[in-house]
Amino acid sequence: MTAAPPSAAYLYERVRRVIPPIEWSSFTNDIEAILALKRERKAVILAHNYQTPEIFHCVADIVGDSLALARNAMEVDADVIVLAGVHFMAETAKLLNPQKTVLIPDLGAGCSLADSITAEDIRLLRQRYPGVPIVTYVNTSAEVKAESDICCTSGNAKAVVESLGVARVIMLPDEYLAQNIAAQTDVEIIAWQGHCEVHERFTPADIRQLREDHPGVSVLAHPECPPEVVAEADFSGSTAAMSDYVGREKPARVVLMTECSMSDNVAVAHPEVDFIRPCNLCPHMKRITLANIRSALEENRHLVTIDPQVADRARQAVERMLAI
Ligand code: SF4
Repeated sequence: MTAAPPSAAYLYERVRRVIPPIEWSSFTNDIEAILALKRERKAVILAHNYQTPEIFHCVADIVGDSLALARNAMEVDADVIVLAGVHFMAETAKLLNPQKTVLIPDLGAGCSLADSITAEDIRLLRQRYPGVPIVTYVNTSAEVKAESDICCTSGNAKAVVESLGVARVIMLPDEYLAQNIAAQTDVEIIAWQGHCEVHERFTPADIRQLREDHPGVSVLAHPECPPEVVAEADFSGSTAAMSDYVGREKPARVVLMTECSMSDNVAVAHPEVDFIRPCNLCPHMKRITLANIRSALEENRHLVTIDPQVADRARQAVERMLAI
């Protein structure tokens, strides 16, 4: 077995359970360069829970789900923010930090939910349902947020819907999230037909097979999964809520019905829990690598910019959510 290079040994201790030494040796140059560049440029790295462990545990300053990243982005003391996640997350960071340089390492890091709806779609919905408030998942472009009344994440969607004090809302673009929230509230929810290409692939049959293969396993499903998957799970919640559940309940065996890296990242903090890992990979999240984070800081790319008029309106929708 190859030993981890001594210079990075203190970081390797964090991830040794999920990254083999041979793989680690290919990361150390980029990690050391990124740590130096962060100091040089007064930069911070915000990383989503779906980023790979060498990013999440070794170079990120702030980690979490979309809600945590949005909240923390407001309080960041830095000149430069690098968003290790997908484009709508980088836009949200820019909305909340208009004076800061916000970089995304790969412009192709999109999202099937964000791609499922346009600002024009929202204007048509307003004509069709006059007076019905529009709650928009953060997994959308700034243009879509600008046409919305308020944003939500999977962690606060129910609270946001109920905060409006109305009998009916439009919630978009994730049809399954809307259906899963509708099952928990008396508010009528009109959904859009967007889906997360990662979570829509889980099925109730997958869960039944997992229970047969791993008796006693606790099944946790993200609310972007179809409602019939959520119904078969033991718990459903955002990535932050799933992580909290594991810490609180300490199940002997658990499976997280979500993106692949989530289990690796949570497993680092819970060596006593056996993680079963039948996951689906998000190709957009996986476009972010140590190499392109390093290039982003070295070459100041790719700059995230938003039309100021769009930004003002989109920011209001995000800030209304954060005020709840
Ligand atoms: S996991 Fe789904 S919702 Fe998240 S970025 Fe990937 S495609 Fe979008």
